[in-house]
Amino acid sequence: MNATDLTWLSAADARRMLDRKEISSAELTDAHLRRIDEIDGPIHAYLHVMADVARAQAAEADARIARGEAGMLTGIPVALKDVLVTIDAPTTAASKILEGYRSPYDATVVSRLRDDGAVFLGKVNTDEFAMGSSTENSAFGVTHNPWDLDRVPGGSSGGASASVAAGEAVISLGSDTGGSIRQPAGFCGVVGLKPTYGRVSRFGLIAFASSLDQIGPFSRSVEDAAMMLQVIAGKDANDSTSVPLPVPNYRDALTGDIRGMKIGVAREYRIDGMEPGVDKATSAAIDRLRELGAEIVEVSLPHTKYALPTYYITAPAEASANLARFDGVKYGLSIEANSLREMYERTRGEGFGAEVKRRIMLGTYALSSGYYDAYYVKAQKVRTLLKKDFDEAFAQVDAIVAPTSPTVAFKIGARTDDPYQMYLADVWTIPANMAGIPGIAIPCGFSDGMPVSLQVFGKAFDESTVFKVAHAYEQSERWSTMRPDLTAIGG
Ligand code: GLN
Repeated sequence: MNATDLTWLSAADARRMLDRKEISSAELTDAHLRRIDEIDGPIHAYLHVMADVARAQAAEADARIARGEAGMLTGIPVALKDVLVTIDAPTTAASKILEGYRSPYDATVVSRLRDDGAVFLGKVNTDEFAMGSSTENSAFGVTHNPWDLDRVPGGSSGGASASVAAGEAVISLGSDTGGSIRQPAGFCGVVGLKPTYGRVSRFGLIAFASSLDQIGPFSRSVEDAAMMLQVIAGKDANDSTSVPLPVPNYRDALTGDIRGMKIGVAREYRIDGMEPGVDKATSAAIDRLRELGAEIVEVSLPHTKYALPTYYITAPAEASANLARFDGVKYGLSIEANSLREMYERTRGEGFGAEVKRRIMLGTYALSSGYYDAYYVKAQKVRTLLKKDFDEAFAQVDAIVAPTSPTVAFKIGARTDDPYQMYLADVWTIPANMAGIPGIAIPCGFSDGMPVSLQVFGKAFDESTVFKVAHAYEQSERWSTMRPDLTAIGG
């Protein structure tokens, strides 16, 4: 098998080949490091490549496999969004304010991967503090979409999606507060899962909006996403919001059989501004689910139109509180000044980018006395209604499908002057965060030469059903086998 073929292996195939000693983790890791060297210049998925760490982990993995003690991901190269703290690499959240910061501990998801024997290729790009939909808010340069280098990869986990789409990682981990896993997965034609709030520990995830944040995988197949979730899911004593429910064997759900299942399509998921090619591809995907034997049921999520405005009260409010800790004293950047106050002002003024400042101001305003009830408390009430919409719909159906985004990946620079246009990329991803339910994005076709994506939502903690539907669809189509042509950049 040549080096390029090695970089396109799924985790499931790599697992089988590693266990049969047909390939070694050292080979697999080297092939990835070489590919990153060769093509990541023009893509810029990586902020920090952990070559030495990766080679050492690969050697350990090969020894562990030889002893017959391999875990699910032993020897498999993964990339980590740079909002997950790591003991042996810098963590920046793509912000100047964290330049030079080193965490004294690993995020729980990172230590679970480490214990399982995964190989860390490096830390990948994101919008600063995960605030954005295009990765253009990174302080360290934009990531380019492997399908068209003039377009954004989506965001905020754009490095995590682009690295998997370009064969620069087998799987990656991102975070999703309002769509930051599913939307970039959709824009790059890969699979992205936001698990149920509470399914995966957030300990060591640099907090954006704590009541919405959740960590999840990017992969090139549903099975690989299931394997990754298997390793990272479950109660963690360090995160009191992680839930002590048993973690099922997710691969058991991948039967390909969805006959008789009830799948909901929400009336409200048709909006002005939806690209015709997106409408066409998602409608065809729904037809396919019907052909596979599912019963398609129209459901209503009447408060959907309030999700976006409610999110832009709740998320900035929580962000303004979470980001108060970056004060020039405890972490990273610290700019000297004549007084403590001036030091705070200069460090935060120069350390944070424009979008982060916008969120802090929006959030501080929404939480200030006199406005708190009118904005924050009201947003919480609307959030309850959004959750109730899903509860009522799930009384009728097993899963709900919707497009992931109203458009395909847009051109770099096209929306940077208009934050509202940028925010609109998430109309259909935000409701799942507000309700806390799981959602997966899977490739479902192309429009304008760019990938289109279908979302599947499930009941809280029912990731198995989400995987079942997504996998059955994936197996019936060819989308997830298609790869971007990177020969122009030597790929
Ligand atoms: N794009 C949304 C935002 O800018 C969601 C980001 C996320 O999920 N981290 O807030």
